[in-house]
Amino acid sequence: MENKEDSGSKPLDFIRQIIGDDLKTGKHQRPVTRFPPEPNGFLHIGHAKSICLNFGIADEYQGNCNLRFDDTNPSKEEMAYVNSIKKDVEWLGFTWSEKERYASDYFQQLFDFASALIKMGKAYVCELNAEQMREYRGTLTDPGKKSPYRDRPAEENLELFEKMKAGQFREGSHVLRAKIDMESPNLNMRDPVLYRILNVEHHRTGDTWKIYPMYDYTHCLSDMIEGITHSLCTLEFQDHRPLYNWVLETLETHCHPRQIEFARLNLSYTVMSKRKLLRMVEDRHVESWDDPRMLTISGLRRRGYTPDSIRNFCKTIGVGKSDSRIEMGVLENELRNDLNVSANRKVCVLDPLKVIIDNYPEDLIEEVRGKNHPQDPDKGTRPLPFSKELYIERNDFMEEPPKKYFRLGPGKEVRLKYGYLVQYVSHTKNKESGEIEEIHCTYDPESKGGFAPDGRKVKGTIHWVSAAKGVPVTVNMYDRLFKVENPEADKAIDFLEHLNPQSKVVLQGAIAEPGLLELQPGETVQFERQGYFCIDPVESTTDNIVFNRTVTLRDSWELTK
Ligand code: ATP
Ligand code: MG
Repeated sequence: MENKEDSGSKPLDFIRQIIGDDLKTGKHQRPVTRFPPEPNGFLHIGHAKSICLNFGIADEYQGNCNLRFDDTNPSKEEMAYVNSIKKDVEWLGFTWSEKERYASDYFQQLFDFASALIKMGKAYVCELNAEQMREYRGTLTDPGKKSPYRDRPAEENLELFEKMKAGQFREGSHVLRAKIDMESPNLNMRDPVLYRILNVEHHRTGDTWKIYPMYDYTHCLSDMIEGITHSLCTLEFQDHRPLYNWVLETLETHCHPRQIEFARLNLSYTVMSKRKLLRMVEDRHVESWDDPRMLTISGLRRRGYTPDSIRNFCKTIGVGKSDSRIEMGVLENELRNDLNVSANRKVCVLDPLKVIIDNYPEDLIEEVRGKNHPQDPDKGTRPLPFSKELYIERNDFMEEPPKKYFRLGPGKEVRLKYGYLVQYVSHTKNKESGEIEEIHCTYDPESKGGFAPDGRKVKGTIHWVSAAKGVPVTVNMYDRLFKVENPEADKAIDFLEHLNPQSKVVLQGAIAEPGLLELQPGETVQFERQGYFCIDPVESTTDNIVFNRTVTLRDSWELTK
């Protein structure tokens, strides 16, 4: 089957090649994949890679992708995480097959399979404590030792397993283990634990169960129950694949999904593990899971990222078999590429300096029109009020401008974009601080729209906002959360030591064009010459709009580092 989206351009990745072959040979009629998050945190950009792969394949090959919560670890899981994960997958633009699924839906089936393994002499109840287990397990160089409980008769094992289930033993006293090979060079095959006792309420099954199945045992059987054809996971599961296959082969299940591993996404200037993200939230280094500096899907959404930019990013980085670190600039560029086309243009002066036009009528407010998009006339224009007093950007004026400075300064004429040409007259300074306070100019009444009537050349064009009609707003200027490319590089240094103290700088006095009051929720716009911005839905109030800087116009990080 032809992969429509990629045909003709990029070669298919190794997973799509395998799937294509399986469809060609008739091994499968259509692929069934799954995305299996553990509901113990919010999804991050790394998960987006897995989501785009699993759901993407289902879309491209007319298959299905299940959303399955891997909820076998009741102490760390919450319904709030389940809901956030569903929201994020939908926001990225994907639809799971039927209702979402939960590993906990299969607890009874998994228990029955475990009983079957016991009856076959392939699993046993072990009473070694955690420390003994470690000792008996051996190391990469030394083989393990058999547990003294390994050869219990099946009936005794069944009885003990039932008692574990009934809550008759305390936590840690008994486990159910597979009986495989204590001398295997693969430690995962040295009689791995299948069930442990946990006296913990489960977010879905309540206190029904006193024993919970381990991830490796649960995952292969859940895949099998759902008829998954290709079980795609990250490289660290490669050494678990023999166990995945052992469980299914031993139980002679009717369906045997194929596990395929791919490289996880690592991004520069951030950390990805949910455990570390949780620590940043709990220790208040960020404000929440959806703090706009976090590389969580919810953080990126609040920051102003678009689903398309994230999907395009996942397409660009592709799927391979060796771990690598992707530059943050790659993600930001996908965002710029998308927003450059989709975002409406607006004006906001971030660091205002007052300009007074001496020859402009005192109370006149004119309407000039600004283009919503310079390359897309279909997006139309919008009114911009022009008045005697305006604000321009403080760094658009220089007292002693160097030669190639084409903005405002003594002796200079500059174009106020969409407004008029203005000529410098004078400026005033604060006597104590020496800070420039006001600029006086005159305007050319014949130059409305910014065109010189006599065709004279005015090189510089700057943005401005009417002082009379402009709206004061707060702007969060975000930067990278960490100062170094790999905050986890040196294990001896806590990753939090590398936090960038300048990752959030709040500008209180910005002045925006009044049209910004009408932005749609979730709409990201370009502030001309400044970057892309969106309204922060959490910090904004009816009295004060707060903007987030989504991304700068250019990649300036390399220059300022
Ligand atoms: P974390 O280490 O962040 O806690 P995890 O692997 O424990 O991640 P899960 O909820 O188990 O998180 O992940 C769900 C799916 O997403 C898994 O199939 C996992 O392999 C995949 N995944 C997680 N992190 C990444 C990543 N950085 N790149 C690609 N896929 C990932
Ligand atoms: Mg996991």
